[in-house]
Amino acid sequence: MSPVPESDHSQRPAVPVLPRGTSILTVPGGSPGMLDVIAVGAHPDDVEIGCGGTLALLAARGARIGIVDLTDGEPTPRSSGPEERMAEALAAARALGVVHREHLGFPNRRLFDAFEIRVALARVFRRHRPRLVLGLGDRTPLASPDHAQALAITEAAVFYSRLCKWDDVFDGLPVHTVPQLLTYFLTPSIPQIPTGHFPLVVDIDGHLDRKLESIACYRSQFPPEKAHIHARVRASAEVIGAMGGCGAGELLASSRVPCTSDLLGLLFPQPAPVTP
Ligand SMILES: [Zn+2]
Repeated sequence: MSPVPESDHSQRPAVPVLPRGTSILTVPGGSPGMLDVIAVGAHPDDVEIGCGGTLALLAARGARIGIVDLTDGEPTPRSSGPEERMAEALAAARALGVVHREHLGFPNRRLFDAFEIRVALARVFRRHRPRLVLGLGDRTPLASPDHAQALAITEAAVFYSRLCKWDDVFDGLPVHTVPQLLTYFLTPSIPQIPTGHFPLVVDIDGHLDRKLESIACYRSQFPPEKAHIHARVRASAEVIGAMGGCGAGELLASSRVPCTSDLLGLLFPQPAPVTP
């Protein structure tokens, strides 16, 4: 769910719900297997809002992208239920050029960093062996607390993915070291970069419309009366782009100082092809 406060209250029982198992959304034209990038969100639409332009850009350059939603994001006030939300998520993935999407079946609104979900997400990393994981980076104090939990879960899962001598937990899935973890932000303003992290602006010029298209797929979350979200996303991209010297940008953060052996390539990158 985007950082918009919900107005209703869950009718689900107070008893913790165990994971209902992974659901794989088959993206037409996509295929499971090795992925270059996995973006993780608490709810379907987090990834689109936070780093959808980056995913569209990477996909246009031929990278194999996957999305993992820790919950199905339901219930929400205007959605008919998980089936509708999953159909929206699939359409959004298709709009971005993503080849694989799955949700892990943990409960929306009651998402907590715990051993089981760390392992479930680390299994995805071991199975698909991404070079880059994109995870949530902000706490969204006026919206769902699931986002802050997702941040901790993703960091832990990246660590668990590389730990050896744990076959009883991972059923023999080989270890995988994720070389890079970057965070994205949902806050509809200039995000606060966490202390010790370093900002990075991704030039998404030419891919902002794809991002907006993917967000528009969530009709249950952004009906006509909430159409202003699209203007806000566009304005935010333009402001962040101005910070980085491009027309439209997304802000990511790294716990490592960005490092390059291609200084001119970093300063003067080639524009990516725009997906027709
Ligand atoms: Zn969310």
